[in-house]
Amino acid sequence: MRKPLIAANWKMNKLHRDALVFAEKLLLTFKNQGDCEVLICPPYTSLAALGRAIEGSPILLGAQNVYWEEQGAFTGEISAAMLVDCGCRYVIIGHSERRGQMAESDQEVNRKVKAALAGSLIPIICVGETSEQREAGLTQEVVATQLQAALEGCAVPAGFWPVVAYEPVWAIGSGRSASAEDAEEVAALLRREFEEAAKIPGDTLRVLYGGSVKSTNIADFMQGENVDGALVGGASLEVEEFCRLIEAAQGRKKT
Ligand code: PEP
Repeated sequence: MRKPLIAANWKMNKLHRDALVFAEKLLLTFKNQGDCEVLICPPYTSLAALGRAIEGSPILLGAQNVYWEEQGAFTGEISAAMLVDCGCRYVIIGHSERRGQMAESDQEVNRKVKAALAGSLIPIICVGETSEQREAGLTQEVVATQLQAALEGCAVPAGFWPVVAYEPVWAIGSGRSASAEDAEEVAALLRREFEEAAKIPGDTLRVLYGGSVKSTNIADFMQGENVDGALVGGASLEVEEFCRLIEAAQGRKKT
């Protein structure tokens, strides 16, 4: 049984006071976990405070990035152990904004996935095609290559099975989402690729869709057999909308 996961990616938004106000409101609405995991990935600067605020609650904490080294002279970088120390269980790796704007390569993504797994964090591996790649009919090839590269040589410890987020680059923050059918088709492919690359049964993998998800379209994405939740940017910034989105995702466990 795969538990749905709704993950908020706040990107570079919210000061830590705003993060705490959000958490307070979310905890009032969301007292029991139900059958849906809820994860908040704030900026690094809010991790420690948010970690303390949600400790013992059903809300989970994640980071938006991690560095592959354990410690040392790496100015500006943050290790897996530092994230765990703040209460993180998950970390987003290879988001298209990092691949695009920070020129993060497949090899760097792979090093980060390995560091996350070695450091007791569950990686949320992001893959997705650009609009040019989509128009050229390359979607499946692009996401399969990104996933294979991310998992290359990874030993996946029990209990830390990666999550994969299919996020078409053109759908992120654009208000233009993929169709539920397209998301379903790519999610099914990623499941097969995961099985092949990680040597773990593909039906245990949780696949998220990301790209302009909101409370009014999440149910469509989760209707099929293969999409287990969402990575949510814009619609996770306002607590009322995020609560409506979680509500709409409840009751959609996959066997
Ligand atoms: C994201 O940043 O991962 C994302 C999916 O953003 P948005 O929901 O705003 O499209």
